[in-house]
Amino acid sequence: MKKHLKHPVFKIISKVADEMNVSAFVIGGFVRDIILERPSKDIDIVVLGSGIELANNVAKEIGNIHVTFFKNFGTAMMKFDDWEIEFVGARKESYRSDSRKPIVENGTIDDDQKRRDFTINAMAISLNKGTYGNLIDPFNGVRDLSHRMICTPLDPDVTYSDDPLRMMRAIRFATQLDFVIEDISLESIIRNKERIKIVSMERITDELNKIILSPQPSIGFKYLFDTGLLKIIFPEMAALHGIDVKNGMAHKDNFYHTIQVLDNISDMTNDLWLRWAAILHDIAKPATKRFDPAVGWTFHGHEDKGSRMVKHIFRNLKLPLNEKMKYVEKLVLLHLRPIVLAQSIVTDSAVRRLMMEAGEEIDDLMKLCHADITSKNQLKVKKYIRNFELVREKLKEVEEKDNLRNWQPPITGEDIMKTFNLKPCRQIGIIKNAIREAILDGTIQNDYNEAFEFMLEQGKKIGLKKVQV
Ligand code: ATP
Repeated sequence: MKKHLKHPVFKIISKVADEMNVSAFVIGGFVRDIILERPSKDIDIVVLGSGIELANNVAKEIGNIHVTFFKNFGTAMMKFDDWEIEFVGARKESYRSDSRKPIVENGTIDDDQKRRDFTINAMAISLNKGTYGNLIDPFNGVRDLSHRMICTPLDPDVTYSDDPLRMMRAIRFATQLDFVIEDISLESIIRNKERIKIVSMERITDELNKIILSPQPSIGFKYLFDTGLLKIIFPEMAALHGIDVKNGMAHKDNFYHTIQVLDNISDMTNDLWLRWAAILHDIAKPATKRFDPAVGWTFHGHEDKGSRMVKHIFRNLKLPLNEKMKYVEKLVLLHLRPIVLAQSIVTDSAVRRLMMEAGEEIDDLMKLCHADITSKNQLKVKKYIRNFELVREKLKEVEEKDNLRNWQPPITGEDIMKTFNLKPCRQIGIIKNAIREAILDGTIQNDYNEAFEFMLEQGKKIGLKKVQV
């Protein structure tokens, strides 16, 4: 392991720990990641003694470095180069049934490793001189890394029941690393799933977002569904699961469709909110599902209702109720529009309308729509993608011609009031709308002079006269 401890900070910690006559170890995610050859900049140091004292002395040795102390937790943190190093004393933890906050006492390295969530996160490397670089792996973390398995160091019922957030973490690590959760662990999560309710939603959503930001988020959502956790933390998404059959007609399973769309979009973007838009694009399908004997299953208005469900879901999941949410609402609302265009003859006016409504979000909307093309019928997929490309070309063409991104009406309400000497009234809206429609239909150009002339005509029609200035 020595070769992985090249950074000078390890030598410094080693020297200081020896001088203080305490044992120090690097532990947890950092050890896991060096074995996996994943870059990691978060280092956790455990000491058989005071983490704060060790951090203090290490800081003195380095000189001119800022340390943040968290006296209540007995931890200290420092930034060195772009590394973040946390120091803590080894601890032993015991839990009560109503809280995931343990009673903590000082412990041995063995106690400290036992309180860890997974075998792959419980490995430590000694930093003291005589044992420098020795790996301490009491639960076979290295074996589980090579088997690509998520296993708990203790009986999984104990690990998960003590701190139910670990159920989410198991699924998160399985998704990030593309590992499999060990069967007995999975069965335990199913048994303990209700205990997730003692965990704060912020923590749950933190893990959920890490799942969503993984290369293939569907892995995590399948685990969340299969264990029953999804139904508890995000019931609207669990409700997408299942197929109805009537008169021999079935609709597709919207849960598997959605996670496929999510994987597709994840190949195109790392943006969390665009990934959330993919998760929520069909969220109102269960609520809008109807059976029409003539055409089969329909989901009329699911984009509109879905968009209106976003706020409630964001609030429940403690996601931000800000412009990110508005962005997701907008994409959910518009997600069918490009594909509808692709199915019919694409007119300039339809493309203009879409560009104007989507504004800055047009590229993301196109990505979402592309990701939404999932069918087992490859011929159908090919045909859609071909039509879709036509829409893209048309968008480009119209954009270059009309410059509609971030569209602002060339004539403002103020202009209308001034021209006809009006106080705020209904007529202003009527004229503004008529100008907008004329631009959309291509009757006039997106241009001040043309719009001004058009405004005068419209005013005349409803009996308004231009005032002379
Ligand atoms: P990442 O940085 O990707 O989140 P990590 O493993 O470093 O991965 P942290 O949440 O920073 O995760 O935790 C650091 C270490 O602390 C873990 O490797 C694990 O040993 C331990 N740990 C964290 N949370 C828990 C928990 N809820 N229960 C038990 N051990 C935990």
